[in-house]
Amino acid sequence: MHIAIVGAGLAGLICARQLQEQGNQVVVYEKEREICGRMGTRQTELGGFDHGAQYFTASSDAFKNAIVGWRKAGWVSAWNGKLVVLENGEAESAGRSAEMLKQRYVAIPGMSALGQQLAQGLDIRTEQLVKRVEARGDQWLLNLVSDTVPADEAAGPFDAVILAIPSGQATPLLGVAPKLLAQAEQARFAPCWALMLGFQDSLDLPYDGAWVKSSRLAWIARDASKQQRRAGEHWVAHASPAWSVEHFDDDEERAKEKLLKAFHVATGSQVQPIYAHVYRWHFAQAVQPIAGDCLWDNTLRIGACGDWFKAGLDGNGRIENAYLSGLAMAESLRLAVH
Ligand SMILES: Cc1cc2nc3c(=O)[nH]c(=O)nc-3n(C[C@H](O)[C@H](O)[C@H](O)COP(=O)(O)OP(=O)(O)OC[C@H]3O[C@@H](n4cnc5c(N)ncnc54)[C@H](O)[C@@H]3O)c2cc1C
Repeated sequence: MHIAIVGAGLAGLICARQLQEQGNQVVVYEKEREICGRMGTRQTELGGFDHGAQYFTASSDAFKNAIVGWRKAGWVSAWNGKLVVLENGEAESAGRSAEMLKQRYVAIPGMSALGQQLAQGLDIRTEQLVKRVEARGDQWLLNLVSDTVPADEAAGPFDAVILAIPSGQATPLLGVAPKLLAQAEQARFAPCWALMLGFQDSLDLPYDGAWVKSSRLAWIARDASKQQRRAGEHWVAHASPAWSVEHFDDDEERAKEKLLKAFHVATGSQVQPIYAHVYRWHFAQAVQPIAGDCLWDNTLRIGACGDWFKAGLDGNGRIENAYLSGLAMAESLRLAVH
């Protein structure tokens, strides 16, 4: 089959690899210049910052097995950073709950490196936004917008289309599949403002990462405590979902100023950064994932996958959800044609 996958995040890449291994001809369309979506590494003059996903944990055997392979290949490594809970500059132990005791992993030398490894051998067309999915007979055409190819160029025809993108980005494309659209509309995402900070000297903070209470911030982490990052005092701070929703339309300067103040209060350090930059994630975390592993309409041959599926896990959508959903999507297609 000739299959189009929209989105080169983890879900799309895993799905593409599986489908290609099954003998399908797969093309992945990605709107950004870089792949791996929210497992992002922002390149700056100080080196890379993990400004999206911070680390991943594994509950399922399938994801645990994948991590064993990735560790052997040298693509990911354990992250044993010291983590605490912070409130107004006071650090407390993060406790010993089952969630806390889980091993954390990071991709090396930055979170996006895992996607770059998984992308090898795949046909990925970057900087191509899929604007519309259109039926042509029993096949599909994609309408693309790009700065590098003429606007509205059509790609296809494809025998099947997979949307491996957040539900809020999938719904505008799912008018052609009303049943899938109705389900995708049930998922909910929260945005996140991320702040990246570089300091001249060490802040001498006795931890590498912290969940922050009573603050605009929810999380901070010292990037260089992760393996193979460029040395230097680099921190990433994530605003809470509530603050990010309320301040979603703030301009970057205002958000930066407010989040930097919150960083100073949370850490108790007043040192000014030599680098400060913010990034606004529109669809950051699936705070209401939907039941199941993925969506697939066997008559229309269109599907959707990503971290907005529970995929047998508890809690919000995470990297493991994206992995399991991408795998399940490929399996649904395999079963459909056999
Ligand atoms: C700030 C932040 C912190 C996080 N922290 C963690 C964490 O610590 N641990 C954890 O497990 N998870 C974390 N997550 C969530 C994790 O990043 C995601 O669950 C996971 O990366 C989702 O992968 P995905 O493939 O489903 O989607 P994405 O990574 O969003 O991939 C979708 C891709 O599709 C592209 N795209 C979208 N629309 C189109 C279109 N129309 N045409 C072409 N391309 C398109 C996007 O550019 C993107 O590259 C965090 C996320 C954020 C933003």
